[in-house]
Amino acid sequence: MADAFRAILISRGEDKSQRVERVTLSAEDLMDGDVDVAVEASTVNYKDGLAITGKAPVVRRWPMIPGVDFAGTVIASRNSKWREGDKVILNGWGTGETHLGAYATRARVKGEWLVRLPDAFTPHEAMAIGTAGYTAMMAVIALERHGLTPADGPALVTGAAGGVGSVAVALLARLGWHVVASTGRASEEGDYLRGLGAAEIIERSELGGEGKPLMKERWAAGIDAVGGRTLANALASTRYHGAIAACGLAQSMDLPATVAPFILRGVSLLGIDSVMAPLARREEAWTRLAADLDRDTLAAMTRTIGFSQVEEVARAIVEGQVRGRVVVDMA
Ligand code: NDP
Repeated sequence: MADAFRAILISRGEDKSQRVERVTLSAEDLMDGDVDVAVEASTVNYKDGLAITGKAPVVRRWPMIPGVDFAGTVIASRNSKWREGDKVILNGWGTGETHLGAYATRARVKGEWLVRLPDAFTPHEAMAIGTAGYTAMMAVIALERHGLTPADGPALVTGAAGGVGSVAVALLARLGWHVVASTGRASEEGDYLRGLGAAEIIERSELGGEGKPLMKERWAAGIDAVGGRTLANALASTRYHGAIAACGLAQSMDLPATVAPFILRGVSLLGIDSVMAPLARREEAWTRLAADLDRDTLAAMTRTIGFSQVEEVARAIVEGQVRGRVVVDMA
């Protein structure tokens, strides 16, 4: 078959049950786009887990090649910005949701979705960061734009042993913050989190249950990957004029909070979206990652799997059982 490539394909039966298979497709099967990329590495994010298990309606086009992130080399371009041989990263923009995605050795996308791979990173390192890490960076930048600095007090990270959480802990610690890491795996992952730079570890249950509208002021800043009561309690425990950057829903999509932290302590809730973020924000985040993320710390939070293990890891991530980041080597 001309231009054949390997892919993971999810299809849906009439009873809405999902089937996941490894298939060989041809370039003609790809959707519209003006840049073709040889995908060298991908990753497993929480959202990829939701797509592959069908636990949430992430996929909105059938059949679908899942995978929201890739890094690789341009092999054909009809876009003036990109040439054959350019190294690129793609995060989000609906790939793996509405546009055929990253778990394939070839992808065709719009040139304006791509970010140039910073010289500092290999494709493997870029995927060790992935959407999870680039989102953590955007959250750090949002806190900084709010005017917060390590001198204002500690920074909370929830879901700390997960992907967003691990990169957030590493970045905040490197930038000089006193990091309070909240995890449901304190006994197994305490040493791991301290290794990333966490100064304090707290049990997930401290923030995960019913709280009060206002609680003792504990941190000036926070990056929350879990939502639900955890986010409500994180806000209720934020210092005067502090802020929490919210990016995830691993606990819940709900936000059972009151307005008290906002109107009595001037606390802010900063929303973080990586999927449709404009190019300038993406480039800023990748430039900052190149400057502020320690390579050895990144390696310490990352493991590499092959194409054949994607489904297994996708199931584990929605169960909250993946530590740090996972790279998928497409070779
Ligand atoms: P991971 O599964 O790697 O991390 C999530 C972590 O949340 C887990 O490791 C666990 O950490 C914690 N957790 C899991 N279940 C629960 C629970 N029931 N209650 C409390 N904590 C829980 O996922 P990612 O890091 O890839 O993604 C994290 C979240 O961020 C997801 O909801 C994802 O959809 C969202 N996200 C959003 C983006 C955006 O653009 N806004 C971009 C990227 C991700 P621990 O064991 O340490 O407690």
